[in-house]
Amino acid sequence: MFDKLRTAFSSAAKSFSEKELKDKDIDEILLQLETSLLESDVALEVIDSIKSDLKEKLIGSKVNKNEIENFVKNSLIQSISSLFDATGTIDIVQNIRAKKDSIEPYIILFVGINGTGKTTTLAKIANMLQKSKLSIVVAAADTFRAGAIEQLKEHTNRLNLKLIAQNYGSDPAAVCRDAVLYAKSHKIDCVLIDTAGRMQTSKNLMDEISKINNVVKPDLKIFVGDSLTGNDTVNQSREFFNYIKFDGSILTKSDADANGGAALSIVKVTATPILYLGTGQEYDDLTKFDKDDFLETVFGDVEQTQEISEQQISQIDIPSKEEKEIQEKMEPEPEVNTMEQELPKKKPEEKTSDDPFEGIETKDIDNYADWYDVPPPETDEQARKLAIKIREWISSGRPKPS
Ligand code: GDP
Repeated sequence: MFDKLRTAFSSAAKSFSEKELKDKDIDEILLQLETSLLESDVALEVIDSIKSDLKEKLIGSKVNKNEIENFVKNSLIQSISSLFDATGTIDIVQNIRAKKDSIEPYIILFVGINGTGKTTTLAKIANMLQKSKLSIVVAAADTFRAGAIEQLKEHTNRLNLKLIAQNYGSDPAAVCRDAVLYAKSHKIDCVLIDTAGRMQTSKNLMDEISKINNVVKPDLKIFVGDSLTGNDTVNQSREFFNYIKFDGSILTKSDADANGGAALSIVKVTATPILYLGTGQEYDDLTKFDKDDFLETVFGDVEQTQEISEQQISQIDIPSKEEKEIQEKMEPEPEVNTMEQELPKKKPEEKTSDDPFEGIETKDIDNYADWYDVPPPETDEQARKLAIKIREWISSGRPKPS
């Protein structure tokens, strides 16, 4: 019996500084982090989904007690970071160059709602491609909205680009086909297609875009969303994605958006990357999306915490789902020991090591356990309190129970 007790004591001592994460520990900390995400305009459904993935991963992990808060925060940052990493990225210039030898041009389709900055963004991409010495033709496939063709013409004139357009009301897919034929016959590298952007719930619009998609089979489909409209942009991205499975997004007006949460929401909802951010009204105001900048905007200085996190996570034992199930079956939730409730509310002695029984002789532990019929402690806290009890018992002359 004593051997068993001693083993229980020493194993409790070993894990004295560790704590197994429970639902409640994680919930409390995630609640604060949830506020950061909400304030950054991340959609609620996205936060909930990230939280439940994270909880499933963390419950049962053993973590140093003082580090729980940091650990959960760092795990959340890592989880968001891997979400961005998982989508990969797209190098547009390189992809166009890779297709240069083909007789087919590289075709990019821009979709999104009016007013989000779609036309300006198309012009910004054209400007970027021109700087990389690639040739471009633009297709005016918004034949619905009055002024759309003129607006595009202003950009193509300024950038000195060829524009293929027909009259308002004509078939947008036919305009795109014309542009592709023009590009082939003039050996142009790339066709940029501007599409109409009525409400995303308009079935006609989605049918129109699906038809363009089927007729010209774009190499790249880009959703353009306004980062200022937060959850609205996320809903638009979901709707467009349902219809045309775009490859990535560009978020405009991020110069005016200090929050940036729409980026995370779109990535989570569509599992496609954010390619660029629009950062102003000039053609050069286009910046490659940077995951680290995003994390820093939402969580503050993450470089340091990420380093800590990597060390912690490599040290910490995160059980697999199967291991957790087995653990749950084998280790029922320990009941509160009445011994704990009887203990004095005295301040515990200064801790000098992780072993609460350090300095107490085994003989004393054995005698105390035997005389007072004490069960082996099941938690670190019980072990610590028991050690205090034994010390008090020793200092009061090791009285036997009456
Ligand atoms: P479209 O209707 O979606 O084609 O939108 P436009 O391209 O016409 O852009 C709508 C307005 O947003 C214009 O005034 C643009 O100058 C402005 N805009 C577009 N992109 C950005 C951006 O990244 N930052 C800022 N501040 N304004 C932008």
